[in-house]
Amino acid sequence: MKLFNNFYNMKVGIVDLTKLSFETISLDKKIAAEKIGGAAVNEDLFKQYKDDVPLVIGVGPLTGSFAPASCLAVATFLSPRFGGNLCHIPLMLRTGPDMKFSGIDFLVIKGIASSPKILHVDKGFVRILSAEHLIRVDIPECLRILKKEMAHSRSILLTGPAADNGVQIASVSTGFNGSLDKVGLAFSMASKNLKGIVFNGTDGLSFIEDNLKHNETIEKRLFAEEGHKNEGFLSMLDKIGIEENLRGVIKKAKCRNMACYHCPSPCMSSVRFKWYDPRKNARVEDNILLSDHMGFLALAKKKGKDIFPLSESCHRFGLDPVAVADRLPESLSLLESLNAIEEISVTPEMPEIRPELHQSEEIYNLFGGGLPPILPDELRKKRIGISMILGVCPIFLLRFPQISELDLLEFLTNNEPDLEFLEKEIQSILGE
Ligand code: SF4
Repeated sequence: MKLFNNFYNMKVGIVDLTKLSFETISLDKKIAAEKIGGAAVNEDLFKQYKDDVPLVIGVGPLTGSFAPASCLAVATFLSPRFGGNLCHIPLMLRTGPDMKFSGIDFLVIKGIASSPKILHVDKGFVRILSAEHLIRVDIPECLRILKKEMAHSRSILLTGPAADNGVQIASVSTGFNGSLDKVGLAFSMASKNLKGIVFNGTDGLSFIEDNLKHNETIEKRLFAEEGHKNEGFLSMLDKIGIEENLRGVIKKAKCRNMACYHCPSPCMSSVRFKWYDPRKNARVEDNILLSDHMGFLALAKKKGKDIFPLSESCHRFGLDPVAVADRLPESLSLLESLNAIEEISVTPEMPEIRPELHQSEEIYNLFGGGLPPILPDELRKKRIGISMILGVCPIFLLRFPQISELDLLEFLTNNEPDLEFLEKEIQSILGE
């Protein structure tokens, strides 16, 4: 479809880990027109290659564009944790734009490698590299090694020691910042012997000229309506509901609000915190990016003021903090909790504990438990669906329901028949 010419590279990368081969094929114009992008195209590709149980990662037409919060890539795979159903996990920060700007819109990863591999995506090409030296190395150290080996790496999706050890509650990390993977993306990657994916997004796409103006209009309207006061990570926790004492834990820390690619309203905070490390018998200073609201709340409810070092520890080993919180007894000291997290990261056979859902089972099964349970279920499902197709952050669309579907589609076209066509296609994909 001509409509998408400015918005895609029109390229699908196919990686076969069994044969250690890579090829690119053109994005099928008919599929792009019917499915538009993101999770919907991912699902189509998943079905085409289903015999190889692929992992598909893809972007939407608006990913990396002037649209607000256009940071999204989506990973689609069979969740090993919850009954083997097809899940779509949002990947934020800069993952989507860096993927698109590395020259590939969709990546189908099939087969199983005979030894650990890492993919390096650059200028429309994928190199399949050895990752044996990264196995069971904690995530910060892995990142240090990778930055040395690949000087221009931009976004890195990485699994940690927990996934290497076959732990089902492992969670993929975007850099050292964790992610909203709470349904086993990291475990699926590890079962393919895939340690990570590096996107070297140095190229770009030219977007339609008046997109910049359209974005300014939306932002102006948004902040006028909102009476905007932004407290980063706390803004979202306040919407979900947070107890005053836990709010105080963040308020006391040194915070700097952070946003993903092209997001005008940060819901994340970088926190600098001092704590007494009982393993070193010393007072130390650390830094962590708070981006996983559900993970924070689950762990903070159990462990209160120890939340920062414990979250850091989950990130370090590549574990889902919600699932860790379910397994940590409240009575443990900080030292015992840190030791317990390390123990969890090497214990593959653990009974699955299904966390409290706070939302409909259908939404949970489709998108995992990482998205904050705000808005009524029907509206919530629609907003998440639109975001996952177009490539805009789902948390952003949940926070600002006043941004309409039409506002977003107008980044793609101003032509009335095209807009009508796109609206109909989205309705049909979402089963409305
Ligand atoms: S709303 Fe939050 S998660 Fe979404 S793009 Fe903005 S900062 Fe990132």
